[in-house]
Amino acid sequence: MKPDGLHFSVTQLKTWMLCPKRFEYRYIAGADPEFVPMPLAFGSAFHTALAHHYQWLMREEPAPVDEVKQRFLDAMTLAKNGPVPLQEDEEGTGFEDAVKKGLQMLDVTLSHPTAQPVKVVGVEQPFVVDLYDVETGEVIDEKLKGVIDLVIEEDGHRVLVEHKTSSKKYTLDQLIFDTQLSAYGFAAEQLGWGEVGLRFSVTTKTKSPAVQVEDVRRDDGDQADFLRQAAGVLKAVDAGVSFPVRGWACKSCPYRSRCQEDR
Ligand code: SF4
Repeated sequence: MKPDGLHFSVTQLKTWMLCPKRFEYRYIAGADPEFVPMPLAFGSAFHTALAHHYQWLMREEPAPVDEVKQRFLDAMTLAKNGPVPLQEDEEGTGFEDAVKKGLQMLDVTLSHPTAQPVKVVGVEQPFVVDLYDVETGEVIDEKLKGVIDLVIEEDGHRVLVEHKTSSKKYTLDQLIFDTQLSAYGFAAEQLGWGEVGLRFSVTTKTKSPAVQVEDVRRDDGDQADFLRQAAGVLKAVDAGVSFPVRGWACKSCPYRSRCQEDR
């Protein structure tokens, strides 16, 4: 049985591809996580702050930087005081260091020229579109559900922007193959948005944070690959396929104790 029977997200797709057992714990068994990985809480707080910045710009008002930073702090504090403990990241970064780094990264991101787009069309833009089987053309039961971080207008075209925080700059492979923008390109087409641009804006957590802005392309072949992956994973989940993939991802897996016990 699939998680909610109606919707499927890129996060679910990526979770299954990373480890089907983790997918099972999270989306099928609904198991309680042992901890919230720090990078997850950090990325979410960073997104919240940037969303606040762009919501001001969408109203065509300058965003107050202090208020944007406060959003980040509030979201991190909420995560720290939440019912599930925060886990330090792989470099052993604790809460205070993470907050300091996040504020530094926000300064760099907000002062980057791309943080002042000419026209903001949507912030945290939700969408739901049909998924279909590439081979048969049949619409499948589950719909693709997602949220696009930022939609701006440039030269009369929409550009979909995906914000990322990362320990280092994105590699060429990540820029070319990341499924998320293939999914967004597909969704934009289904929504009748016409030709859209796709952009990564990556802020690094390096000692001196940097903003990497990359426009990428996704063609019909990339979209077909994404649809094949989605349909393939959904079929596997339906058939009850689940197995552990032990490796680097186990260290930050919120179900690792349970997974160890289930061996
Ligand atoms: S601990 Fe490793 S193998 Fe087990 S569910 Fe998590 S990622 Fe998968």
